[in-house]
Amino acid sequence: MTNPDTFDILVIGSGGAGLSLALRLADQARILVLSKVSLNSGSTYHAQGGISAVLDVNDSIESHIKDTLNSGAGLCDPETVRITVSQGKKNIEWLKNQGVEFTEQQSKDGKTSFHLNREGGHSHRRIVHTADATGKAVSQILIERTQEHPNITLLENHNAIDLIIKHKQEDSSPYIQGAYVLDTLSNKVKSIAAKIVVLATGGANKVYLYSTNPQISTGDGIALAWRAGCRISNMEFMQFHPTCLFHPKERSFLISEAVRGEGGKLILPDGSEFMHHYDPQKELAPRDIVARAIDNEIKKHGIDCVYLDISHKPADFVRQHFPTIYKQCLSLGIDITQQPIPVVPAAHYTCGGVLTNHDAITDIPGLYAIGEVACTGLHGANRMASNSLLECLVFAERAANHISKKIAELPDPGSVPDWDDSRVSDSDEEVVVSHNWDELRHFMWDYVGIVRTNKRLSRAMHRLEILKQEIAEYYGDFRVTSDLLELRNLVIVAELIIRSAQHRKESRGLHYTQDYPETDNSKPAQNTILFP
Ligand SMILES: Cc1cc2nc3c(=O)[nH]c(=O)nc-3n(C[C@H](O)[C@H](O)[C@H](O)COP(=O)(O)OP(=O)(O)OC[C@H]3O[C@@H](n4cnc5c(N)ncnc54)[C@H](O)[C@@H]3O)c2cc1C
Repeated sequence: MTNPDTFDILVIGSGGAGLSLALRLADQARILVLSKVSLNSGSTYHAQGGISAVLDVNDSIESHIKDTLNSGAGLCDPETVRITVSQGKKNIEWLKNQGVEFTEQQSKDGKTSFHLNREGGHSHRRIVHTADATGKAVSQILIERTQEHPNITLLENHNAIDLIIKHKQEDSSPYIQGAYVLDTLSNKVKSIAAKIVVLATGGANKVYLYSTNPQISTGDGIALAWRAGCRISNMEFMQFHPTCLFHPKERSFLISEAVRGEGGKLILPDGSEFMHHYDPQKELAPRDIVARAIDNEIKKHGIDCVYLDISHKPADFVRQHFPTIYKQCLSLGIDITQQPIPVVPAAHYTCGGVLTNHDAITDIPGLYAIGEVACTGLHGANRMASNSLLECLVFAERAANHISKKIAELPDPGSVPDWDDSRVSDSDEEVVVSHNWDELRHFMWDYVGIVRTNKRLSRAMHRLEILKQEIAEYYGDFRVTSDLLELRNLVIVAELIIRSAQHRKESRGLHYTQDYPETDNSKPAQNTILFP
């Protein structure tokens, strides 16, 4: 036992959720924020579209609630939806006060207001944005503000390995004590003690071969919580973004939903449109319908991709509304004002995650989960576009309020057991990690992707069992590296997705299986909750 680095609050993750929580509590507590790579390595930085909030006079909270419930296909928690939606305006104002410059417009009488975009599933324009690089604008400001605050310590290149859980002597109930963290530059494992730990580690979409997410999205927080004894919910609902750029040099670049919102048409290589065959809302149908339609057209015609065409709009309009997409595509030789953009679906958002209540509390006292790592009940079986950044902000605030009331009374975390690596050596066959990583992401894509079947799920589970055993042996024998830690977490996440998908004997929201193609309306919709 040693006296570790001690903080009041340990926040694992420096995206929109983690940094906004840290800022809200920093006047009251000493906070450590960890990032696995650089501070802007999370999905937040890459968000293009924006943040949903009811700001238009013709819009209403009830309408935003209704749209969210519709998207969630019977599985949203209505109370979570109401809480989140009704806090939208307040959180946008908070971000503005921190310094985020959202795109504005002027009315004829000279009044300035937020410019609002419209995206799939929303029945009104309600997406606040900073051109098409909202996440970058939000991240940069949150990073600046946290860097300025004397009570916040930010550590890059620190990978949380496992949570440290203690059990009370009187009734052996668990409580959080901190985490073991690998400093990936020095390769040393540190023990960090804290009264409160907040998981803000983002999603798990890198479990799939094609993903719009940055490298860090390996579901670490979900795996950490699961190993620590938390329930995990609704992991079968993985959202595939319909339109990821299809280009050999750029495999994770997303073409925002807003392009379809502003009139972009999906076409086949011969120029013909196809969305009218799938949904009356055509390109503005919910994401799962658009993703399945593209997947089906690609398989039916044996083509590599379909195309998204916005070139019929004036070139100035396109450049002004989509400057990032325009520049990125142009750098790859695609002028989107003149030609259609090649696109494929890719894993984009993890609707399930660590089960939390309305204050972001998990099953372990002192452990909170916020942002994409959590399952709050907002998204149900399908996330509506731009509701996720809103969820990050609202639940960061709610967790902060809850923590703020009790932090002063909590005892110091005390000493924690040392990390023991006396029985492991340096790896002599790193190829096992890279090979297994590739294999996992391939079979998840092929067997547990947009369209599932019982047979494919059992094949995936069979392969997973073998990988799981190999990785457990490898983890027991060798010193930890970031790649090994991520793979160990991805295997858990993959298992949780497959088990949840096997459990659901119907198609609902994002979960589509050919064996049960209909939604089971004979009984009330049920969440899939896995117990550790
Ligand atoms: C391309 C793209 C576009 C999107 N566009 C939108 C949009 O327009 N609107 C919207 O609402 N949503 C959008 N989303 C989704 C949204 O961006 C994410 O859901 C949200 O940003 C998640 O924020 P977060 O704070 O939970 O996690 P992230 O922003 O992903 O941050 C996770 C953090 O955790 C750290 N971390 C992870 N594991 C560990 C570990 N083991 N140890 C230490 N640190 C760790 C990472 O380094 C990172 O700092 C988009 C997502 C993508 C990928």
